[in-house]
Amino acid sequence: MKLSISQSLLKDWDDYSKGLGCGLWFKARHIDKIKTKPTPAMLKGLRFEYLCTGALLRDGSIPPELLTKTGNISKTDNQKVEKQAERFKEAIEFYGVEILETSKIIEWECDDYKRKGVLDILAKIHKMPEFKENPNVYMKPFEAIIDIKSTGLLDNKFEQFGWALENLPFRNKLTEQPVDYKSIYRENGIKDIPFYWFVHSNTNDIDSRIIEARVGDARIDEQIFKVKSAVKAIESELFLEFKAHPTVKRCFNCPLFKNCKEKITVPKVNIVEIY
Ligand code: SF4
Repeated sequence: MKLSISQSLLKDWDDYSKGLGCGLWFKARHIDKIKTKPTPAMLKGLRFEYLCTGALLRDGSIPPELLTKTGNISKTDNQKVEKQAERFKEAIEFYGVEILETSKIIEWECDDYKRKGVLDILAKIHKMPEFKENPNVYMKPFEAIIDIKSTGLLDNKFEQFGWALENLPFRNKLTEQPVDYKSIYRENGIKDIPFYWFVHSNTNDIDSRIIEARVGDARIDEQIFKVKSAVKAIESELFLEFKAHPTVKRCFNCPLFKNCKEKITVPKVNIVEIY
């Protein structure tokens, strides 16, 4: 079987190899490809994307309206995403963004594995200012990737999913995406195109930010090396068997919880040596 390497697999592999994720769940998700329900955070993102671009779920259905914890339609949350989708539309009009394709798949394949990325939007940008000092001079129209994000951490400097600009270059889980897409272009021998995040807050209906991710050549080469190393390590783990790394929190949130023999519901004893 040929491994299919996506950026979500790479993130989960990174967690597993550092002991921060469970191997049984990794295998179920990325090797056996079991189907799971989207989490509330994922549903929020999918609903927002639908309101922005009309992108449907994989089964062709419309992402449902957002619900409260008790299962009722959340008027407040729905109003926030609707307002933020209006802001997205205002921004793409301002920058003359022409949406060429949504959910576009980019791929690369060799004898041992294949790689895949799904672009939220492949766009042509017609009105990007060339110089900050002179916003009326536009760059020539160009193709770009646009990724739409909805987050509660727009200004957060400390969390691994925090979007504060000053620490963003160190947020590997966020930067993995443009790096991965650009490395797929590189593997295909095609010049990569600019990548923009359009990031919107989901805690209010005002804050949003547009960020261009400029990725250095060395980082792209590093990503290709990382993919090759991950493929070798995953193949060896498939041979030796993936290991469970249960924690109470991880197991309670795990879709395999009901039938998993390795789950724990009481914390293990940790040992700390104090000298
Ligand atoms: S229930 Fe726990 S041990 Fe089992 S797969 Fe999930 S995280 Fe791993």
